[in-house]
Parts: sequence; structure tokens; C-alpha cells
Amino acid sequence: MAPADIPLAKYILEDSHSLQISDLVVGNKYNNKQIATAFKCSLMGGMRRSKKTNSLVLIAKHNNPLYDDQWTEDGILNYTGMGKVGDQTLEGNQNITLATSKESGIHVYLFESYQDNHYYFDGEVEIAGDVYTTNELDQNQNMRTVFKFPLRLKNTNSKLLIDIQDVENSEKEKRRSIRKFSQKEMKEKIKSIVSSGSSREVKAIYRERNSMISEYTKKRANGVCDLCRKPAPFKDKNGNPYLEEHHVVTLASAGPDKIYNTVAICPNCHRRIHVLNRKSDIDKLQKVILKYLLDDHDIENIENFKKLFSK
Ligand SMILES: [Zn+2]
Ligand SMILES: [Zn+2]
Repeated sequence: MAPADIPLAKYILEDSHSLQISDLVVGNKYNNKQIATAFKCSLMGGMRRSKKTNSLVLIAKHNNPLYDDQWTEDGILNYTGMGKVGDQTLEGNQNITLATSKESGIHVYLFESYQDNHYYFDGEVEIAGDVYTTNELDQNQNMRTVFKFPLRLKNTNSKLLIDIQDVENSEKEKRRSIRKFSQKEMKEKIKSIVSSGSSREVKAIYRERNSMISEYTKKRANGVCDLCRKPAPFKDKNGNPYLEEHHVVTLASAGPDKIYNTVAICPNCHRRIHVLNRKSDIDKLQKVILKYLLDDHDIENIENFKKLFSK
């Protein structure tokens, strides 16, 4: 058990037909079907009203560049209203339901999504200030009016910790769609950004690496990149050639932190490997490691190497 002992956000796989709102646990992930079952609401949409359970379910999608729902330092989420094209209105839709939820006694629940059909449950929320309007680009790149609803958690004791992996994946997804914009469109979008960045607590897994193995790997490379064979591009403050340790089978995919799996490479090659993940580079690095081990007559690690890379 990890010492931090933070419960992992669990994604409940089975479809529980009898799921109730009271069964939902803050920090757990649920899918559309489970949300619809518990709240007796629609399977779709960002704002799902249910008369049967007197509730309004809100979904904050963080993997969609169109909406920029961010938490402030004071624990307020400025939630964007519904309506993808043109000016949003406070009439005849769930925007008005949310705006008047306090007076009408409707229970409002929040889910946050970093991946389609995976929703973290935040628990019950309430309007925490005046609803306001701002200008943002719509789906068709036209400036329009949107409503922002300041929300806060009703129970601040059970705070949601997002898995850092989910945040990173959704960031990648967002960037992929953002890159389709022209430089001019991007500039236009930047103009309508109101927030100056926000922060949120995340749950991260730190993969420990042995510093002896790391330093040995760099010594072994002797100041020359194990991939491009060029000298390290600069020296660090202590005058040592700057190279970075890399695991050929990455730690994230359960690669061993052992000298038969590590190389020391220049920052340029290191980025290239992580961005492109080319087989030719991986093959080359394997040959380099094997040569080191053979030169060293390191029979044991040659065996380990063969076991690792014959898979
Ligand atoms: Zn290099
Ligand atoms: Zn690496």
C-alpha cells in the first residue's frame, strides 16, 4: 500500500442497474449509463435535468477546447452554460434551471470529464455568486455571449483528486484539435481568454529510479550521446557533460530500472524518442546497450537483456 494512502479514483466497470445517487462516491469515475441510472436523467448533454430525482447534472468537459471551465484558487468553478453556437440565452433551457436552482431547491451535481464517457464525480454543488456573461468564440469561430455560473462544492471535505495521467491525456487531445486552427484564429482565441491560468491538485505516481544506475549509465556513455553519438551539447554547473537517462522499455510500461535497459542520451534525442517513438531508434539503442554489456563480459546482464528484448 502506498504510504500516502489516497484512495485511487476507481472506474466502476459493471453496469449497476440499481445505482442510486447516494451510492456515488466523490472521486470515483462513472460512465454515461451509470449517471443516467443514478439520476434518472438523459444519457447525453452537458446539463441533464431530471424531474424524477429533482436534480440537475452538470458535466464539465476538460478535453474540449471550446469550453474553458477552470477552478479558481478559492474553489470556484466558472461553469460555462449550454449552447454551442451563437449567443447563449437564459430562457427555455437548463441555463435558467441552473441560475434559479437555489430558489427552486433543485439539487445540482457536478461531474468532470477528461476523457469521453469517463466522469469524475465531484458531488453536489451550488451557485456561489452572480451569474455573469462574457465573450467567447463559438464552434464556428464567431464571437458570442456565454453565461458563466460560479459554482462551489457543497461539501468541501471530500475533494476530488484527478489522476495526472488523465489530465495529460486530455491536454494532448485538446492540443490536437487546437492545432487545426490557423495562427490568426489562435490569436483571436487568445484575446478572449480571461483567466490567467489555474492550478489544481492532482494525484501523481512517482516512479522511483535508482540514482546509482542513472549515474552509472551516464558515466558509461562517457560524454557522448548513446543515440546520435555526438558529444553532450553542454556541460552542467559542475562541469559534467549534460546527458539524460532514458529507459528503452519505459518505466511507465513496466520496464526495469536496470543497466541493461538504460541509456544516456542528449536532450534532443531524448525528446525525439518520446515524441516519435521510432523503431529504428529503439533498435539502435538496444545494440548500443548490448555492446556495452559484451565489452564488459557481463554475462548475467546479457541474459537479462536478451530476456527483456526478446519479448
Ligand atoms: Zn543525441
Ligand atoms: Zn526517456
